[in-house]
Formats: sequence, structure tokens, C-alpha cells
Amino acid sequence: MPIHFEKKIKVAKLHSPLINFELDEQEVEYRIDPLLGHLSLCPSSQKKKISRVHKKLDNELLDDICAKTKKNCFFCPEKIDSATPKFTADIFPDGRLKVGEAVIIPNLFPYLEHSAVVILSRSHFLSLENYSSELLFDALKAALIYLKRIYEIDKVKYAVLGANYLFPSGSSLVHPHLQITAGEYPFCYSKLLLDNSKRYYEENKVNFWSELIKTEKISSERYISETEGIHWLIPFAPIGNFNIQGIINKSNFLELSENDLKNFARFIAIILKFYKRQKQSSFNFVFYSGPLGEELDDYWLNFSIIRRPNINKVYINDMWFIPRLMYGNIISQRPEELAKIFKEYLIKIGFH
Ligand SMILES: [Zn+2]
Repeated sequence: MPIHFEKKIKVAKLHSPLINFELDEQEVEYRIDPLLGHLSLCPSSQKKKISRVHKKLDNELLDDICAKTKKNCFFCPEKIDSATPKFTADIFPDGRLKVGEAVIIPNLFPYLEHSAVVILSRSHFLSLENYSSELLFDALKAALIYLKRIYEIDKVKYAVLGANYLFPSGSSLVHPHLQITAGEYPFCYSKLLLDNSKRYYEENKVNFWSELIKTEKISSERYISETEGIHWLIPFAPIGNFNIQGIINKSNFLELSENDLKNFARFIAIILKFYKRQKQSSFNFVFYSGPLGEELDDYWLNFSIIRRPNINKVYINDMWFIPRLMYGNIISQRPEELAKIFKEYLIKIGFH
């Protein structure tokens, strides 16, 4: 059965004080995720609202935060040796592992039995255009070495690799870093992806992700590009603002080659430059892997990135009860519009 992209447009009516209480008819667009069924809404008013509520980056405040937090930052090079934890010798005999500027250490406050942090740069702060593909590649490589090592030791199944950048993303530190956790149970969203990919495969005898790419390539409304086997697109029902997705025909982290990591790093660096161009400074990303060591016919590893609000004195978060407690998504820009401006950006920077 072909992938069904279900959407519906409704109209909300009100007498708005912004137009002298004339009748204001605003379009509301429902989108249902074709695999998971979650609801993403693209209200026509949202672009206007977001520019009112989520302010521009307050550079003065950011400079102040960077200066204050740098003093006691244990991820800065002068503090790493004395103030960060070390792995047990069975994982890394030297306690920590370095790859280029990246240093991987255990998380001082582990969430799962395996919790690590990759300090991504020697710099305390990176503006988004300074996240280079080299820095990202070294950090991803360090993360993968760690995952391979703990898999050898523990045969752990469910691993997550992600990043939060700056306080609006939920990060408690300014210093750029990635986080890796691995344990016995999958997080809810990973489980939904895995279970529904399996269901789709059993019902249709074809892999959902390969079908998705085939379908998106034909319409090309949301399909962006392919970088040596990684397909980049804007999801039909995004899970956050400026949501960009990368999909690769590999089941889990252990199947990724160095070249795959290079390609991910290269394109993530481009996405972050694009965010910067859009006057953004904060983001979250995550890689959704299948169970380590299991080659699945029904699942392809994928990556998802979203932007978060800018640092501002009058700070309003975008994680209110609908996204946080209802798993619903309110999107400020229709995916097809985002795809259009992102593709224009790629042409402008000469990407091919
Ligand atoms: Zn630092």
C-alpha cells in the first residue's frame, strides 16, 4: 500500500482586536504522521505568533552567559583532566578517549548504566556556523568507538546519541557536547519507530523507509538531497520547528562506517549554518538506532534535528503541554516551505 500523507485544512473564526474586531478567518492544517500517526499542526497564524513570542537572539546576554559560565566550566581544556570523571579500565584503560578535539568521558550523573558525554570542542562556545564538519566527525567517531566498546563488554541493545545546545534546548552547560546513553530498554519514541516499522513491513512486505524515500523523491516537495547513501528530507508531520531528517539504509549504530559518520557530520554542519542564517542559535538532535547488533529488514537508522528558541532575557520555552504532555506538534512553517528555503540556501552555498 502506498504511503498515505493525510492532511486536512480547517478554518478557525474569531473577531480579532488586531483588525478592529473584524472577522478573522485563520487556516489550521492537520497533518498525520504516516508511520506513527502523531498529529502535527501547521496553523497559519503560527509564524506571526512565534516571531512575537520567541525573540531574537540577545547577543549581549549570550556574551555575558558565556563569560560567566566559562570560569567554572569543567569541559574547557584547562579543567578536563582535573574535574571530569574517568571510565573504568575495562572500557578505556586510560580513563578517557580523545579523537581530534573531541574527548569522551562518562556522564558524572548517569541516566542509564552506560552514559557518556563527548566534549566536542576546545572552545567554550560555538556559534552555529563554527560547528565544523571536522569537529562533528571527531565527536561522532568518539561516540561510535564508545558504543562499540560497551557492546563488546555488555551486549547492550538500546543506544541513543543526541545533542542539546544552549539552555533553551535543555542543556545545563554552554560548552558544546554530545550525549550517549545505552541500556536494556528503548525509549518510547524509538520503540514506536521500531514497532511501527515492523508492522508496516509485515503488512506491506516492503520497508517503510525505502518506500518513504521513493515516494518523497517523486514528489520532491520535501526531499532535499542524498549524501552518499544518506537521504535528507523535511518530514511531512514534523516533531519540532525546522525539523530536518536524515535516513540511511543501516539498522543500527554498529553498522555505520567512518564514511557514513563523515557524511552525517558534513550535512549536520550545513544544517547548523542554515539555522544560523535563519538567526537561530539553539538546537536538539538525535539519532534513532535499531537495537545494537541486530540487522533488521524493516528498519533504517535515522537522524532528526530541530531548532529551539533563542536565548533571551524574557525567555519563553516552546515545550508547553501540547508537545510535552500530548506528544502533539505545533509547527510555525509548513514543511514544503522549509524545504524550499533550505534548497535555495544549498544552491546559494554551492552544495551538491
Ligand atoms: Zn567550557
